[in-house]
Amino acid sequence: MPQRDISKAVIRRLPRYYRYLGDLLSDGTERISSNDLSRIMKVTASQIRQDLNNFGGFGQQGYGYNVEYLHDEIGKILGIDDTHDMILAGVGNFGHTLAKYFSESKKSSTRRFRLVGLFDVNPELEGREVAGIRVRMLEDLPAFLKENPVEIGILTVPANAASSTAEFMVENGIRAIWNYAHIDLKLPESVVVENVHLLDSLMTLSYNLKELKKKD
Ligand code: ATP
Repeated sequence: MPQRDISKAVIRRLPRYYRYLGDLLSDGTERISSNDLSRIMKVTASQIRQDLNNFGGFGQQGYGYNVEYLHDEIGKILGIDDTHDMILAGVGNFGHTLAKYFSESKKSSTRRFRLVGLFDVNPELEGREVAGIRVRMLEDLPAFLKENPVEIGILTVPANAASSTAEFMVENGIRAIWNYAHIDLKLPESVVVENVHLLDSLMTLSYNLKELKKKD
């Protein structure tokens, strides 16, 4: 399906549509109106129609949306109709947890992402099995990536090691970085970065809590 230039705001909302539609599919729902989708997602029906019209619209007047078709099309737009292999650098507490999450998750959307390599600089971790994967030393990354072409790198190293580790990943063929380090990376435009700054999010929660308490 030909796609127009889609705004970043719409792209940001697509994973949520994908998630709700996936749940509807699992419940055996075959079709849904924009009004019903609006009710369960707590988004206006006009927003839904506008968002989905970006892709030529998947709905039919009086019929609603075909859940499976819409789910699959959004999956294609998000590039998750294919499986992605990923590597992770920084097998500390957080990296460890994330690795376990990916290896143990039964969710079909999580299973689109397959963790195939773990890297660290701590020699004590070398050869240790985490989530069924052997931890390798970061210096072995180039050889690993030559044998296993992987495009996505997860960064769970401390902030002071994040830029150099990201650059090293990119030099060796990584084209997309999922950055959990508490730092904004400066990388060439040939690389895409998605930051997951957990503490920024927690601070937003803290602010909202403060505002909520003002109403007490
Ligand atoms: P966290 O809970 O944030 O993972 P932690 O206390 O387990 O914290 P950190 O100091 O944040 O550990 O480091 C995370 C991991 O990153 C450690 O296992 C550390 O050895 C590893 N590490 C540090 N620098 C690098 C690097 N340049 N490349 C790969 N791994 C690194």
